[in-house]
Amino acid sequence: MGVLLRGGAIVFRDAVVEADILVEEGKVARVGKSVDSGYSKTIDLRGRLVLPGAVDPHVHGREPGLEYKDDFYRTTRAAVLGGVTTVLDMPNTLPPVDSPPKLLEKKSLLSGKSYVDFALYAVLYDYGGDVESNIVELVKSGAVGFKAFMAQTTGNLPPPSFKTIYTALELSRKLGFTVVFHAENRECVEFFTSRVLAEGRDGLKAHNDARPPLCEELSIEYIASIAEAVGGRAYIAHLGTASALKTIRKSRRGPAEVYVEVTPTHLFFDYEERGELGTLIKVNPPVRDSKNRAKLWRAVASGLVDVVATDHAPHAEYEKMVEFSKAAAGATSIQHLVPLMMTSALEGAIPVTKVAELCSEKPAKIFGLYPVKGSLLPGADADIVAVDPSAEYVVSKESLEYKHKLTPYVGRKLRGRVDKVLLRGEMVVDGGAIVVDKPLGRPLR
Ligand SMILES: [Zn+2]
Repeated sequence: MGVLLRGGAIVFRDAVVEADILVEEGKVARVGKSVDSGYSKTIDLRGRLVLPGAVDPHVHGREPGLEYKDDFYRTTRAAVLGGVTTVLDMPNTLPPVDSPPKLLEKKSLLSGKSYVDFALYAVLYDYGGDVESNIVELVKSGAVGFKAFMAQTTGNLPPPSFKTIYTALELSRKLGFTVVFHAENRECVEFFTSRVLAEGRDGLKAHNDARPPLCEELSIEYIASIAEAVGGRAYIAHLGTASALKTIRKSRRGPAEVYVEVTPTHLFFDYEERGELGTLIKVNPPVRDSKNRAKLWRAVASGLVDVVATDHAPHAEYEKMVEFSKAAAGATSIQHLVPLMMTSALEGAIPVTKVAELCSEKPAKIFGLYPVKGSLLPGADADIVAVDPSAEYVVSKESLEYKHKLTPYVGRKLRGRVDKVLLRGEMVVDGGAIVVDKPLGRPLR
């Protein structure tokens, strides 16, 4: 027996079309006009924009080992409320995910705690043994991709050597996985950080100067050059510096696949206009000036940016609400991903179709999950988000699912509330609230 989703405005790649969706056994069975309603259950989606569930490839679920910051249960509750139905979880947990046993252990730990489907990254660094065989084994064990931290970050993982990066990108082409890079040049960051410290400066502008655009540009050029040489698949996470896009544009002329992600933090904030938010928008790479932010939006609209993902990175109050220079870097946003992008679309910054492309289709493709995830094509998992474009609301602290109620979006007015979310055909969110009594998410791969 199926479920018929009736009369929604379906957001396809190139157009928004009113249609019905028939869901059978958790899959999209048919999409079309006036699909026969001989079904026991019909859900009325008239007046709703209907998108494939968002795939967020950049989430720090903090389990295992960092549960004091947040846990996977709450993170994925927040995710599904934000229209996200698939989460790719970062490997800088404790212990870091650097071997097949640790990957499998983490997978079993998180199973049963997730409100969304999920997959796990492995970390890319110098493992100490044979790099190539470890990467191959991690892929075989189900790693959805690899994450390389080129500069210091949460967990203090060392940056990979040239040999490790080269080997990973070479294998990425052969085996079809993607290597995600936190692209800031470590030496560059160290040099400018010590200079800013010596000047005794503090705050968002100082943070920008301590990790200036040059550090991103150098790192992205380095990564893109290697990717070009081996034809590999590199993904630049959380691009902060618009000028670095010239490197990306150039790299796309050759056989390499170099993708770019931008976060809501870098799209919605800069150190000039919302400087009062202070440590709440302290992230690495830093938010930059308003001119740069406008350029990032243009790159999103023009298609130069592939993905908008959250880099959702919760911390505790005592780590975040302290003196700026001592505060942990990272911001939270997963509970508002689709509403934030939908607000921008409804205000005319980007077409509505672009939201589905940036948040669902492209990330699913880049990480090998398409078309089961990230699409509403027949055969896809029925991960479906229905947004009420007429609903406006102001983000309140009380509504946050996060363990620590810290987010720069409190007080912000959003348009386009997530009304319903289906995960593999099961209604998980209805009327903007979670309606299942236990998590239904499953590990992918
Ligand atoms: Zn991150």
